[in-house]
Order: sequence, then C-alpha cells, then structure tokens
Amino acid sequence: MSKVKKTIKVIKINADLCNGCRACEVICSAFHASPKYSINNPARARIRVVFDPVKNVYVPVYAGGYMAAECMGRDKYVIDGKEYEECAFCRSACPSRDAFKEPDSALPLKCDMCEDDPPQEEPLCVQWCLADALTYEEREEEVEETEELDDLETGLKALADKHGFQNIVDSVARMLQKEEV
Ligand code: SF4
Ligand code: SF4
Repeated sequence: MSKVKKTIKVIKINADLCNGCRACEVICSAFHASPKYSINNPARARIRVVFDPVKNVYVPVYAGGYMAAECMGRDKYVIDGKEYEECAFCRSACPSRDAFKEPDSALPLKCDMCEDDPPQEEPLCVQWCLADALTYEEREEEVEETEELDDLETGLKALADKHGFQNIVDSVARMLQKEEV
C-alpha cells in the first residue's frame, strides 16, 4: 500500500482545567444543526463531558468510530481514588448505550474536527473552551493510504446493520415514489 502525507489534527485535553461548563457540547451541536447554528442540543454533540459535580469530575470525551456490536466486556477506571462509570471514556457509538447517537434517529455521531468551507481556524469546541482545557495542534505525517468512511456512509452502514440493507433500499424506493407523486 502506498504512503501519503496526511495532516494529523490533535485536540489535546487537559482534564485538570475543565470546569464542566459544557460550552463545547453546546457549540458542537449548534455547528452540526441543520441549518447551521439554528438550534443547540448537547445530546447531539460529538463531544461529551463526563460529569459528576459531587466528585468534582469533568472529563471531555470525543466521539470516535461507530461499532456495530457491543464489546464482550466492560471497562471501569479508578483514577486518584475516583471511580468512573462503566465505559465512561469509550469514544464509540455502540448498541449498548445512547452516547454519541442522534437522539431521534439513533444514527452514530463522530467528531469531524468541524470540517467547514472555508475551514475553521480551529475546531469550535477549542475556540469556545475559555478554560483552555482543549487546545489544538496539527502536524504532517506519512501514513498508509486507506479509505475512510465519511459521515453519510457511516450512517448508512449503521442503518443497514440495524434494519438490513434490503429494507433500506426498499424504504428509499418508497420515498422516491412519494416524491414523484
Ligand atoms: S468548554 Fe472546556 S471547560 Fe467547558 S466543559 Fe468543555 S472542555 Fe470543559
Ligand atoms: S472538533 Fe468540532 S465536531 Fe469535533 S467535538 Fe469539537 S466541535 Fe464537535
């Protein structure tokens, strides 16, 4: 497989500085609303702040890839004597929980680094984090050329896994028929 130059985008998380304001969740969901900025609903954000004010716990977690099947086991972290909920730091949308899924459609959500045209100077969650818990870095790296699924393909794959590919095709055909009437 050939190698290509790729810009690696990194959001560095300093959980010690996070104060749980959740501005990152608000702006992320507003940016991804349709039309853009028309509404904000943190349940639709591609970043989630693991939140427990009693234990003084605030840890931002970014939505990563979609998993069609849940894990065979669970993980649970204890850090500095604080015990976190199961799967708290997992970045996947998976069948075992509601995190990182569109509340209405249950389609998986994934951080896209605020892809925009023209490009954003920095991801919006970074810009809105006044506590500097999130900072942005870029670097060039040589990587193996791979095909990545975009948001639409990821969503279609999730629907096909859930309902079956033929049902999706039939539904689209019915929708097209209704459009034509
Ligand atoms: S905006 Fe920054 S300080 Fe506020 S919850 Fe998000 S990461 Fe934490
Ligand atoms: S980088 Fe953009 S898409 Fe990713 S979590 Fe932050 S605001 Fe959302």
